[in-house]
Order: sequence, then C-alpha cells, then structure tokens
Amino acid sequence: MALHSRLLLLEDDPAIARTVAYALEREGLQVLHSLLLHDARQQMRAEAFDLLVLDVGLPDGSGLELLRELRHGGAAGLRTRASTPVLMLSAQGEEIDRVLGLELGADDYLAKPFSPRELAARVKALLRRAAVQAPAPARGAALQDDPVGQRIHLHGQPLALTRREYRLLACLLAGAGRIHARDTLLAAAWGNESESTDRTVDTHIKTLRAKLREADPARDYISTHRGMGYCLDL
Ligand code: CA
Repeated sequence: MALHSRLLLLEDDPAIARTVAYALEREGLQVLHSLLLHDARQQMRAEAFDLLVLDVGLPDGSGLELLRELRHGGAAGLRTRASTPVLMLSAQGEEIDRVLGLELGADDYLAKPFSPRELAARVKALLRRAAVQAPAPARGAALQDDPVGQRIHLHGQPLALTRREYRLLACLLAGAGRIHARDTLLAAAWGNESESTDRTVDTHIKTLRAKLREADPARDYISTHRGMGYCLDL
C-alpha cells in the first residue's frame, strides 16, 4: 500500500467523521472531509483521490448518487478515476442501500454503528488490492518488451529471463490476445532446425508463468488453450 494515500470522506455527522478521520490518520492516511454531497463532488473534480468513503444519507442527497456518477460517468470532469475504490457507509438495517451500493459498484460496505478500527482495516485492504491491480504509473501495458536490451519489464521491473524465455515471451507479447500454436512458439524461440519439441515449449511456459507470478502474484498472464496453444492476456 502506498503511504500517504489520500482519502475523501463524505459524512454529514461531525462526530462520526472525526472518529473515522482519526482512525484513518493513525494509519498514515490523509483524509479530506466533506459534509455535503455538493462539496465532495467539487473535491472529486479537483483531485484524484486514492479511495472514497461515502455516507449514504446526506442533507443534500445520497452518497449512492456520487457512486453512480463516478462509476457510470454521470459527472463530467472528475479528476478522481472511475475505478477508485469506494467504501459505503449507511444507517443500520438499510439493506436496500447495501444491495444498491454493491450493484452500483461499491467495493465494500459498512453499516452504522461500526468500529473505526474495522473501517481502517477494510480501507487498508481496499488500498492494497488497488495497488496490486493498478498498472505502474506512466507506463501503458503491464508488460513491455525492450528488444534492444533483450529484456521484458513487468510493471517497470525487468524480469530475470533466459534467452529462450525472453524470445518466447516476446513472441507472445507481440501477439497478445491471440493464441499461439506450440509450433509457432518453437520456431520463434528455438528456430526451425531445432531438435526441441512441443514438450520443451510447455516446460518453458511453466517456468515463465512461475517467474511472472513471482513478480505479480495478482494475476495469470498466460492462458492455456487445449489443443491449440498459449495466449498472453493483457
Ligand atoms: Ca448521514
């Protein structure tokens, strides 16, 4: 989790807001507090927050409106990204809010009264998850080929690959999203005259997968298509 993550807290009850802000700040997070939906919307236009904690019942509307605008592009010009993690807060027993919140794309949900420590724990879990899923900043795809250096970077870090593994992965990457037959991969990595077999490809793919998983445990990059071959999914 990135330190100094910035959170927007939308909560019209000052006592709850104080308790929540205190619990989050103790974890090293920065909290910006809005009492009204209108103010929160202004803040989201001005800034790209790392996470939002939104109360449902507010004097000037519902936190669910803001969630809908964020996820479904209802509000133009928000600097806060549509994929920003959102934790909803609502009055006890408001089951309908919980269902609606999750349907609208809330990542987590807490009903009042809740323990500030639990809220802080859930916020941290959401931030960790977001950090794992996010692409490295200022880079397009997660995987980038450096043909001159004969290296491939994952999230900006070079993978430790053998020459064959590099050629295999570069071939898959160049045709990302397409299924590559073992013959194609064999030719790309070993050349046509090689003694190697399909089994060699399988073995190297296995090693590649292990290396990718070690560098990014959150997901699998290479999928197996039975009887057809392998595909790199970006
Ligand atoms: Ca409220």
